[in-house]
Amino acid sequence: MANPFVKQYLMTAGPTPIPPAVSEAMAQPMLYHRAPAFIEVYARCLEGLRLVFQTENDVLCFAASGSGGMESAAANLVEPGEPALVASCGKFGERWVELCDAFGARTVHLDAGWGNKVEPAELERQLRETPAKVVFTTLSETSTGVVNDIQALTQVAHDAGALIAVDAVSGLGAVPIPQDEWGVDVVVAGSQKALMCPPGLGFASANDAALEFAAGAGAHRYYFDWQRTVKGQRKDPPDSPFTPAVTLFLGLDVALRLIEEEGLEQVFERHRLLGRAARAAVRALDLELFGPEDENANVVTAIKLPEGIDGATVPKLMRDRYGVTIAGGQGHLKGRIARIAHCGYFGAFDILTTFAAFEMALRDAGHEVELGTGVGAAQAVFLEAGVPVAAPA
Ligand SMILES: *Cc1c(COP(=O)(O)O)cnc(C)c1O
Repeated sequence: MANPFVKQYLMTAGPTPIPPAVSEAMAQPMLYHRAPAFIEVYARCLEGLRLVFQTENDVLCFAASGSGGMESAAANLVEPGEPALVASCGKFGERWVELCDAFGARTVHLDAGWGNKVEPAELERQLRETPAKVVFTTLSETSTGVVNDIQALTQVAHDAGALIAVDAVSGLGAVPIPQDEWGVDVVVAGSQKALMCPPGLGFASANDAALEFAAGAGAHRYYFDWQRTVKGQRKDPPDSPFTPAVTLFLGLDVALRLIEEEGLEQVFERHRLLGRAARAAVRALDLELFGPEDENANVVTAIKLPEGIDGATVPKLMRDRYGVTIAGGQGHLKGRIARIAHCGYFGAFDILTTFAAFEMALRDAGHEVELGTGVGAAQAVFLEAGVPVAAPA
């Protein structure tokens, strides 16, 4: 075991920390995927996923990272040579562009710019100008912390007769996206963020309209063919057309139970509180958030690093000197922002620990900081909300 004096804290938006009970379940002996012992777990996971996706759809499961879930959407929804509209506001939104291009779409890119939200009115204008049958967008843009208004964007897409596919890889299970209530056609996610599991499962929840459209669209797909997976998962008992990631399902079974026990609304509330505390710490430190002040941006807090210091050293110092791993900026934001994640298995003291290390690293990097300023502001938020105490064993 590593030196406890430099205990490690994982504060990135994926992979995220895993509850011990999840790790423990995955240490069990391997199961044959057609044996009743696994099928029971598999069936329970498929039901539990419906609860988190807030849907009656079959949540299709693939052995893949979150991008695999996204690729399944492109493989099933992109019609080669036809327009596909991507509404992006950061690195992960741009992945939709790359995917649509790879599957031969005439991709139209509505780029809201990194750090902005996709404006529903802009999407409306773009769809009038360049109609498309499918809109691809992002719930939580992990590269910037921005959370888009999926309910409004769905309305706009539907009014224009388009389907909408949403990358909720980091947002699902952290901020609300009630799929059926909002009528979101496709929601894509991955196991390693708010779902508190290791990387390796990609999910796609497609409604009947999307499945029907997919049946007549798409050109190149095999493993990611939604039809094939739907057919397997709808059998009684459910069956996976390919060998499922058995070990990950054992973990997911426990993670979904933990979410159910905490209650989905309470899970969202916890994330709201973590986000609010993180933003309060940033303000108290006299630093700026990257992106708009937003009560709903509770997945990742992105912070503009102060001018005059080498920004890239801050996450590095935090990790190497203090054992707290956060993320820096991606792409052109490298060295300009720090990203502190709080999606998944995170509590109040993760935020306090992280801001303590952040303040120390800022000071090490040469930025004047009154130690405790950010931590104190976050503490005040937690105290005001009622001190989160550990549940009795
Ligand atoms: C993490 C993430 C992904 C997918 O990442 P993988 O590395 O393929 O799991 C996609 N979109 C968003 C918004 C993400 O945060």
